[in-house]
Amino acid sequence: MQQSFPMNGGDGPHSYLKNSHFQRQATIVSRTMIEEAIAKKLDVKCFSSNPFRLADLGCSVGPNTFIAMQHIVEAVERKYLAQGLNSEMPEFQVFFNDHVANDFNTLFASLPTERRYFACGVPGSFHGRLFPESSIHFMFSSHALHWLSKVPEELLDKNSPAWNRGRIHYTSGPEEVSHAYAAQFEHDMEIFLSARAKELVVGAMIVLLIPALPNGIPASQSPFGVMFDVLGASLMDMAKEGLISEAEVDSFNLPIHLASPEQMTELVERNECLIIERMELVDPRSNLVGPINGKECAMFLRAVLEGVFAQHFGSGIIDQLFDRLSKKIMESSHQLESGNKEGTLLFVVLRRK
Ligand code: SAH
Repeated sequence: MQQSFPMNGGDGPHSYLKNSHFQRQATIVSRTMIEEAIAKKLDVKCFSSNPFRLADLGCSVGPNTFIAMQHIVEAVERKYLAQGLNSEMPEFQVFFNDHVANDFNTLFASLPTERRYFACGVPGSFHGRLFPESSIHFMFSSHALHWLSKVPEELLDKNSPAWNRGRIHYTSGPEEVSHAYAAQFEHDMEIFLSARAKELVVGAMIVLLIPALPNGIPASQSPFGVMFDVLGASLMDMAKEGLISEAEVDSFNLPIHLASPEQMTELVERNECLIIERMELVDPRSNLVGPINGKECAMFLRAVLEGVFAQHFGSGIIDQLFDRLSKKIMESSHQLESGNKEGTLLFVVLRRK
C-alpha cells in the first residue's frame, strides 16, 4: 500500500505555506535553466492542440507552485512568439497534483488572482497514472520525487540484515539498508517514468528538481543526511529519557531517498520513450545568506515532516522533538556548512520522443 504524508496544511505558524522558503530557492535558482530548456528544446510547433496543458506533480499548498507555474507559462508564451506563432498562442491549463490528503482548499484559496491559466486539481499519487494518454505538454515537479511510495518492507523485519535499529534513515546505516532504499526508489521511478511517458504528448518536456547527492558521496556528507541523523539522535535521546520507546524508533523509517545523477541517468535510460536533455546538480543554498539558523531549519523540517512523525509517534511529542532538533542543528552547524559543495538538488530536463 502506498503511504502519504501531506505537508502541514493551512496558513498557521507551522504550515508549509509559511515555511517553504528553502524549497522556493530551488525554483528561483533553476528559473533561467528552465527558460533556456523551453527556448532551446521545446518545439511548440509540433503541438497542434489548444489548450497548452501543464502539470505540477507534488504541488503541495503553494506558494512555490504558483511561482513556478507562472514562470513556465511566461517562458512558453515567449517561445510561441519566438517561433512566429503569435496568432496561435494557446490558452493555458494547469493541473495541480498531489496526494488526496493534501490541503487543496488552501491551495485553491491562495491561487493568484492575476494568473494567466485555468486551474484544476488532480488528486492521487504520481506513482501511477494521473492523466489520459498523450494529453500533457509540460510537466514539472520540485522537491517531491525523493518521497518513496512506502518504506521498503525489509526494514520492518527484525530478522532481516536491513532492520534499521536505532536510526530513522539509511544515512550512516549498514549497506543493506541503503540497498533496500535504492531498490524501492528504482521501483517507484520506473512506475513514475512509464506513467509520464504515456501521458506526455510527443515532443513534450518534463522538468524535475530532486533533492540528491553527487555521485559517490555518502548521504552522511550531505546536509539532508546530517539532518536525518540529527533527527534520529533527537528521537533516541527522547527514548533514553523514557518519553518514547526505543522499539518505536527502531520501527520508524523516513520514506525518503536521495538519488545521484548516475542513478537517475540509469533509470531514465531504461525508459525507451524519454531522453535526457540536461541533468546537473545545482546548489540552492548558494542563494541563502547568513549562518545556519537552527530554529528556521527546524521549522522548515517540521512543515514537511510533522505528519510522518505524528502518525507513528503521536502528536504529543512533536513540539519537543523539533525544539530538540533546533538545538542539535546548531551543534552540527559546522557539518551542515562544510560538507560537499557540488550541489544538493538534481536539475533534470527530459523530453518525450
Ligand atoms: N513542489 C512544492 C511542494 C514540495 S513538498 C514545492 O516545491 O514547494 C512535496 C510534495 O510532494 C508534498 O505536498 C507531498 O504530498 C507531495 N508528494 C509526495 N509524494 C507524492 C506522490 N506519490 N504523489 C503526489 N504527490 C506526492
